[in-house]
Amino acid sequence: MGQQVAEVCGNVPSPLPGMLTITDFINILHCYYKSPLVQMYELESHKIETWRDVYLKSSPPLLISISPDASLFDAIYSLLKHKIHRLPVIDPQSGNVLHILTHKRILKFLHIFGKKVPKPVFVQRQIQELGIGTFRNIATVHQTATLYDALSIFVDRRVSALPVVDEGGKVVALYSKFDVINLAAQKTYNNLHVTMLEALCRRTCFVEGVIKCYPDETLETVIDRLVTAEVHRLVLVDRGDVVRGIISLSDLLQAMVLTPAGIEALLS
Ligand code: ADP
Ligand code: ADP
Ligand code: AMP
Repeated sequence: MGQQVAEVCGNVPSPLPGMLTITDFINILHCYYKSPLVQMYELESHKIETWRDVYLKSSPPLLISISPDASLFDAIYSLLKHKIHRLPVIDPQSGNVLHILTHKRILKFLHIFGKKVPKPVFVQRQIQELGIGTFRNIATVHQTATLYDALSIFVDRRVSALPVVDEGGKVVALYSKFDVINLAAQKTYNNLHVTMLEALCRRTCFVEGVIKCYPDETLETVIDRLVTAEVHRLVLVDRGDVVRGIISLSDLLQAMVLTPAGIEALLS
């Protein structure tokens, strides 16, 4: 099985420059930021190729990709194994990038086509019974913490989003890496010493409220909610809205596709 996957999943130094995602932008921003009074000239003046040299100096640019004739299973395996969120589909002959696969696109596809095949019985079981998701050591950020604090958590922990909480641990909002794009779009990255509440208000494109779920809801309900809301995760809360866990698309793809095939816990 592993060998089969390795044959169809590209994992070689590529003639392509590689990937530069929001995670890289966050790491660069966090590294160069000093204070609201110090302008980060590098951020505006460096070319992408300079960033690549500076930022990737210790590791060779290895592009993880997949060929168009690989299976969806291989794509899911590769995304989870490498803990990445973008998988380019590359034509082996021309080297052209044909598409970028993400968890969201894969889940949507499985959801549409899954209607034509019988669902596994375990989708009727409750999340708390199945234990799908992360329930310990949840990375959160306090609503009065600074945006710099949130970026520091993104740099230290490999998580894609942070529930924003109040003094009682209740979730009041969600701040995802995607939201950091607003800083670049609005050129507001020179002041990261704003509170999370301010940072949340400044977002121009976001989802209203927090998309949550409860431990006694079924897996089927959770999947429907994720697909309908088009978000990458649900925040698991108790009846008092206190954060108890995260159920991400990565967890779902592990539980629905890899675990039944005998591939355990690539996410740990
Ligand atoms: P995002 O920041 O959009 O959530 P990722 O979590 O996939 O994206 O990015 C994490 C790190 O992995 C980044 O440094 C990014 O450049 C790198 N990366 C993402 N996709 C690939 C890929 N297909 N091949 C190699 N590196 C990748
Ligand atoms: P992507 O996976 O496409 O990079 P995300 O799903 O992480 O993006 O985020 C897209 C938008 O949806 C962001 O504005 C983010 O704050 C919001 N969002 C994501 N998950 C939730 C959630 N559970 N509740 C509320 N908003 C969310
Ligand atoms: P993701 O990066 O969202 O695809 O998720 C990768 C793994 O990290 C999954 O097992 C998630 O449950 C977990 N995860 C995501 N966000 C958090 C968070 N804020 N705290 C702890 N774990 C998380």
